[in-house]
Amino acid sequence: MNRHDVIIIGLGAMGSAALYQLAKRGVRVLGIDRFAPPHEQGSSHGDTRITRLAIGEGAHYTPLVKRSHDIWRQIERETGADLLTQCGELIISSKSRKSSVHVEGFFQNTVDAAHTHGVVHELLEASQIRTRYPQFNIRDDEFGYFEAEAGFVRPEACIDAQLSLAKTLGAELRTCETVLGFEPNANGVTVKTDQGVYQADRLIVAAGAWLPKLLGGDFDKLLKIYRQVLSWFAIDGDVAAYEPERFPVFIWELPDSLQAIYGFPAIDGGLKVATEQYAATTSPELVDRSVSMHEIDHMHRNYVAPFLKGVTSICVKAKACLYTVTPDAGFILDTLPSSERVIVASCCSGHGFKHSAAIGEVLADKAENRTASLDLSPFRLARFSA
Ligand SMILES: Cc1cc2nc3c(=O)[nH]c(=O)nc-3n(C[C@H](O)[C@H](O)[C@H](O)COP(=O)(O)OP(=O)(O)OC[C@H]3O[C@@H](n4cnc5c(N)ncnc54)[C@H](O)[C@@H]3O)c2cc1C
Repeated sequence: MNRHDVIIIGLGAMGSAALYQLAKRGVRVLGIDRFAPPHEQGSSHGDTRITRLAIGEGAHYTPLVKRSHDIWRQIERETGADLLTQCGELIISSKSRKSSVHVEGFFQNTVDAAHTHGVVHELLEASQIRTRYPQFNIRDDEFGYFEAEAGFVRPEACIDAQLSLAKTLGAELRTCETVLGFEPNANGVTVKTDQGVYQADRLIVAAGAWLPKLLGGDFDKLLKIYRQVLSWFAIDGDVAAYEPERFPVFIWELPDSLQAIYGFPAIDGGLKVATEQYAATTSPELVDRSVSMHEIDHMHRNYVAPFLKGVTSICVKAKACLYTVTPDAGFILDTLPSSERVIVASCCSGHGFKHSAAIGEVLADKAENRTASLDLSPFRLARFSA
């Protein structure tokens, strides 16, 4: 009775996309999540995620994000949901920068990726950035990359829409149910939860920050979990100057800081801005999900006030969220060496959401044993054992 073609553990960004794609193909699929997604315990909350077509983390990501944009636009047409806002993206850097985003050479890689994939963009000098976006405090030696088709996606809405569509198409969802373990064998995979036992031909494990514990072995050495903080600050006066019609998403490789900052136009009254930290690892069990006043003050004093004009220190909202990071800041999309039946999706390292809709499609390809529509060779597990 509990036999399915495919079981998916984790219905966040990656799992909900895979569930939708498999259900659309008529596959008998079961999705299990320990919470009721979208939720605030993992990596996919906080209203917005940057999306950009030229990817500084590697030109091989561009086909994934392009396909994701197509899928989200299609879901928007089907459901009426508001998922993708293309308000443009500005990356600011300088020769004197001390920080780089995710990988060394992020800015130049982005420009190179734009050329490789024909992404329309502009390279801006400091004076041009000041004229177009006076909201930023730009130094004379800074320069920018502007991409008009970039912008942001709404993670909770994407997950919600894909789960609803999957359900309508016949997928079975079991939420607030925790997978305790799984066992591949010659006939399939057995999945044990705190409420039952299920079987399938294939298993997709998309458990985000819980992956190291669930997969065991050396995965705790491969996947490091970091707590990140998101803060929303109120605008002083002219809120319209920070709304998506007049303000882009931005990534700023700061001149005097070891960390970059990134941010979003003000939606729902607050401008979201964040930096990244890789100093201390954590786990989903131990992480402090509250954000202290000290953290908020530190953020505003060091990363907001010097760079953005007219953004007050009034914090309207703050959230903690989890990064799951691989040694090369790339993704893992592969079967386990011990079993072809188990597919692992660890697609975070702080930049996975924009690719998630397309990742759902390639996960569905893999689960159906079809050749994936996009090249997955950069995401093999074996690259870490070389
Ligand atoms: C602060 C922050 C900012 C980010 N900014 C960007 C950005 O601007 N652009 C971008 O593209 N990406 C960004 N990312 C990355 C992106 O959000 C992640 O790549 C993506 O959310 C990862 O999705 P996931 O499906 O792997 O994990 P999740 O969405 O966390 O899903 C994992 C799911 O597995 C479930 N689960 C775990 N264990 C079990 C179990 N034992 N049984 C059942 N269910 C289980 C969990 O409940 C959860 O729902 C950011 C991430 C963070 C944290």
